[in-house]
Amino acid sequence: MSFPEDLAREDLAVLQRERLQGLVRSVLPHNPFWRGRLADSGWQDLGTLADRLEDTTLLQELPVCSKQELVADQDSHPPYGSNLSEPLSSYTRLHQTSGTTGRPLRWLDTPSAWSNILSGWEQIFRIAGVTASDRFAFPFSFGPFIGFWAAFEGAAAAGHMCLPGGGMSSAARLQLIQDNQATVVCCTPTYALRLAEVAVEEGVELSSSSVRMLIVAGEPGGSLPAVREAIETAWGARVIDHWGMTELGPMAVECAESPGGMHILESECIAEVVDAETLSPVTAGEQGELLITTLRRTGSPVVRYRTGDLVVADPHPCDCGRKLLRLRGGILGRADDMITVRGNNVFPSSIEAVIRGVHGVAEFRVVVDSERAMDRLRVEVEVVEGVAEALVTEGVAGAIRGTFSFGADVHAVATGELPRFELKGRRFVRE
Ligand SMILES: [Zn+2]
Repeated sequence: MSFPEDLAREDLAVLQRERLQGLVRSVLPHNPFWRGRLADSGWQDLGTLADRLEDTTLLQELPVCSKQELVADQDSHPPYGSNLSEPLSSYTRLHQTSGTTGRPLRWLDTPSAWSNILSGWEQIFRIAGVTASDRFAFPFSFGPFIGFWAAFEGAAAAGHMCLPGGGMSSAARLQLIQDNQATVVCCTPTYALRLAEVAVEEGVELSSSSVRMLIVAGEPGGSLPAVREAIETAWGARVIDHWGMTELGPMAVECAESPGGMHILESECIAEVVDAETLSPVTAGEQGELLITTLRRTGSPVVRYRTGDLVVADPHPCDCGRKLLRLRGGILGRADDMITVRGNNVFPSSIEAVIRGVHGVAEFRVVVDSERAMDRLRVEVEVVEGVAEALVTEGVAGAIRGTFSFGADVHAVATGELPRFELKGRRFVRE
């Protein structure tokens, strides 16, 4: 028996086509949101559309869907919107987005869709190289954010001991990890660094702890070399990057064999990389926006969903031998996060990579302020104890000037002055 992530390209294509046709034929006709949208684009008869999708390239002719459209649908059909394929009584799980970009989006799941999500996590664990003896710690405040809920349940279902870390201080979470000899930690890259900082304060030797792997998600940091290196050095453990969204479920993971990129779980979705302006497909190796059609999130599916995340499809085969699409460098940034400084378009993640590459930065914040319509960068850094402040501020200023064609005002601030984050870090603020 072969696992879905190990299928040959041709077999994967057959599986995707069958699942897509099944979705269009049996699920979407019961879903008011998708039935209406597809009728608006000329597909009143979804049976015919399913037949025509024998050629899956027809998918590229269907309309794309944005988060704003889903939010608008929930506004006009409160509280859950009309993207529901089953009666409300069939749904058992509610999650909502963190609301970093606008009003939170609510997302419901049926038991069968949720169990498909858990099987996606089984793929993730196999690709990441998790073994039967691994023990998981989740230093994470479980709430309505989908976060690591499915990872927790997926790991428990796969037979691993799972340690919940909700409602605990960082020091208590470190103690939990130590006392129970956890080997895999799941958190955001930001929080992995925060725990490393607390470990130093508490006199805990993380690098000699039982932890051998951190599965990180929620921010681009997991694929940024400087961030990875900082986490891996502090923990003496391997970083595995992971990507998912509330609207999609877990969708990508780095393989053990090839750091610095992520495979898409293509048995669970159809991924397209398109030009963010024209929406035409880009060739492999070129940057574009990732569109996802979910195949097994049947209670609330999405077709050609605009993730807003910019990626490059790696045209080369991966060392792990899997034929799954690989995103080189992971998620490169979000289309809507782009900032313009003196005429240069840059992603916050690129600036973070440069700042994290300077030795002695404990935490930082970038303030973008507009002076005469020209964005300027002000960088505040907290310096690691024992390192000379001037060395760090000059290092950061020099690294920014050397990498981009603009400078930044860099200041040191007192230890503990900048906010620490458990979920997505918010280190870029606009004034
Ligand atoms: Zn691989």
